[in-house]
Amino acid sequence: VLPELADLLPFPAFVADAGGVIRAVNARWRELLGPGVGDPWPESFLLSASCGTAGGAPAAPETLADVQAPLRIRACIRSGDVRWFDVHSQPLARSADAPGTVLGILVDVTDQARREAEVLAILHTAVDSIVLIDEAGVIETVNEATLRTFGYTETELIGQPVDILMGEPEHTRHAGYLSRYLATGDARIIGIGRDLEAVSRDGRRIPIHLSVSEVRLEGGTRRFTGFIRDLSEQRATLEMLAEQRERLAHVGRLSTMGEMTASIAHEINQPLTAISMYAQSGIRMLARDNPPLATLATALEKLNAQCLRAGSIIERIQRFTRAESASHEPVQINALLKELVNLAEGDARLHSLELEFELADGLPPLLADPIQIQQVALNLIRNAIDAMSEIGCAHGRMIRITTRALAGNSVEVAVTDQGPGVPEDQREFLFAPFHTTKKDGMGMGLSICRTIIAEHGGVLGYREAAGPGAVFWFTLPVAGADHE
Ligand code: ADP
Repeated sequence: VLPELADLLPFPAFVADAGGVIRAVNARWRELLGPGVGDPWPESFLLSASCGTAGGAPAAPETLADVQAPLRIRACIRSGDVRWFDVHSQPLARSADAPGTVLGILVDVTDQARREAEVLAILHTAVDSIVLIDEAGVIETVNEATLRTFGYTETELIGQPVDILMGEPEHTRHAGYLSRYLATGDARIIGIGRDLEAVSRDGRRIPIHLSVSEVRLEGGTRRFTGFIRDLSEQRATLEMLAEQRERLAHVGRLSTMGEMTASIAHEINQPLTAISMYAQSGIRMLARDNPPLATLATALEKLNAQCLRAGSIIERIQRFTRAESASHEPVQINALLKELVNLAEGDARLHSLELEFELADGLPPLLADPIQIQQVALNLIRNAIDAMSEIGCAHGRMIRITTRALAGNSVEVAVTDQGPGVPEDQREFLFAPFHTTKKDGMGMGLSICRTIIAEHGGVLGYREAAGPGAVFWFTLPVAGADHE
């Protein structure tokens, strides 16, 4: 039984027996929580239906006497309010006749609990993973984003060294990093942040950005909070964009090829006509009494050469239209451009235009994707053809393709036409996607070309021609040149 003095206490107090049944309560208890006596601990004052969800107390210990640290409980008081209490309890020394009897008091910690709950809520609603570790690198707290991202449960993580979340080389080196920092104060990541690879429970590697802040607690101990941003989605978007660009470039090549069907037909018709001619004359020779075998052999050789020529044209077209990811290899730019002539010349001829090459001797090899560079050059040539046809070739019929070495280890390719040129007020839009002045234009050509050249470490631009017309030029770095 509680001494009467207990009724003067400003907080609830109680006595419970070894079975956890409440035997006595003080006046403050009755006022706040109701009668209570005879009820088993702790259900008597845990949340009842009138206050909403039940629960809120940690798993009840066998007997209250086992409780060392205060027990945090969420209770429904008589007014209908929900309050948080820390239950401090201790065995009642007096009751030798009733072992296990416990005296307990309830300290109202509602404000503190609310603040903690708020902090926890913030922690748990954070999109980024937040991991709190101690000075030894042991995980103390994680938020829900951490569990989602890494696929662990909270119990699997708490108490573990934080390096279980890390990929190599950080996994092996983290302990060393941490002790070096504690010893020297030389921060490599705290307050800086960097992109790393983390590892999920099932071994999946996750690209992340990690930033770490340090918390100095009273008494000099330190904690570290890691903020982990999952970059997987961002990376996937980047890859998707690259892939889309690749596909667009492919479509670009296909439509370029589509527009060029007439010239390709022309291109292939030439060897086919020759083949048919040699075949017919061969048949005629064989029909004679004494076939001239030596002449026949020559005709067959020529026929074969024409077959190979037709084959190589088709192969070039196939190479050009295949959707392939970029592969950078050392290329001779002049050879690349000359190979292109076969594709572009038919088209130019069709519009009664002439292609002229002025290729510098002795250019060093460039590191590039040959097909992509050909695509860029072809795009510029096709634009030149469009521009000149548009004004009925009023300024001339010449498209000049030039190469030259520039100072600073790069090479310039320029396509100069005799079209109308680009009016000054249009120049800033030239390379913007979807900018076109053509009836059927997509406006993607120059924008894709610029991206391709930029990815090669070069620049694509426009300048006025010496006469009327436009110069579209691009530069590419020489293979092995340092263009960081
Ligand atoms: P598209 O050819 O589908 O219009 P581009 O991006 O290749 O797309 O070109 C965008 C615009 O730039 C063209 O519509 C045209 O107005 C202009 N342009 C491109 N090349 C030339 C050129 N050689 N001379 C004049 N204008 C040009």
